[in-house]
Amino acid sequence: MKRCVLQPGIMDLAKYPFLAEAGEYLRDKGFNLEQLGHPDWAPLVEKAYGRIVVASSGQVYHPEGGRLENPDMEILSFIVAVILLKAAGINTLTRRFSLAEARRAERFLQQDLWANKDKKNLDLPLKIISELFGIRVHVEDDEFVIKVADYLQRAVHFHEKEWKLVNRRVGAGLVHLTSHETVRLIRTELGQYISARIQSISLPPIPDTFKSRVGDLVTLAGRFADAPVVSSDYPPCVKHAIEVLEKGENLPHSGRFLLATYLLARGQTADQIAPLFKNAPDYNERITRYQLEHISGSSGRGTKYQCPSCDKLRSESLCFKVPECDGIINPIQFGRKRGTANA
Ligand code: SF4
Repeated sequence: MKRCVLQPGIMDLAKYPFLAEAGEYLRDKGFNLEQLGHPDWAPLVEKAYGRIVVASSGQVYHPEGGRLENPDMEILSFIVAVILLKAAGINTLTRRFSLAEARRAERFLQQDLWANKDKKNLDLPLKIISELFGIRVHVEDDEFVIKVADYLQRAVHFHEKEWKLVNRRVGAGLVHLTSHETVRLIRTELGQYISARIQSISLPPIPDTFKSRVGDLVTLAGRFADAPVVSSDYPPCVKHAIEVLEKGENLPHSGRFLLATYLLARGQTADQIAPLFKNAPDYNERITRYQLEHISGSSGRGTKYQCPSCDKLRSESLCFKVPECDGIINPIQFGRKRGTANA
């Protein structure tokens, strides 16, 4: 496990509670698990549980009022959430929590990069990015720059056109990025880092006051347990999109659009399709249903969207062509003769 050798202050730790220094800070202040099990600390356990529930619904946790007014509670609630997740031992919840916390930290990193770029006071955000993920970020001409190799290693997982190197400003072996793009590049790694930290902790016996919320997490996880039915006659691009979701990884918007339009064209309903998205790390039931209904034409202006063409999917790096794809121009022709598409 990489360790960020920084000297962050308490407000920094409230923003980035996954740093090893957060645990040390609390130990230095004399907090321990036995003490946190006292009924007086019940609001903290509720806050930690709420943090997991918010993450499981695909949202990003914010403290009440949106301000870090009680940094100790912010750090402690993260740590207790980690303990509850470890005790529940449910990978889906850990994955969702890790991604949501990565997205939360991403906002702070972006703000810290942007707010401090003129003040040459970028130590903390740059060190987090450099020491945890091995990316050296520099400020140049009011922009952030990283090595092309570091960029490509991460951007290859993004399918949107703007991430293609040809669409970036590149000079002297460096790629120019905004603060938002800089931290967006490391979201997945940050999520994996948080997840690895949760996996790596060895759990001492937990206080009785934590146990009912651990049981509630097991119940909560049941919402994400539906296994999607995947037909073997789906084209490889569609199978790939389903596999990405099954692994709980992030499928870009264009991949979700492909999946929805393809399955709708095959006669499935929004109700049948929705469970496929349940394992997506940013799953939100209400938004998923709204989007499926919109794409199917049953809401909004009633326009039913068509499955994108193979050419379009190829340009979005979502095509995984096999010989059976020869001669077709749209995934819904897969397994049928050319010319019968949209029939
Ligand atoms: S050729 Fe078309 S159907 Fe085949 S994998 Fe590519 S996009 Fe999908």
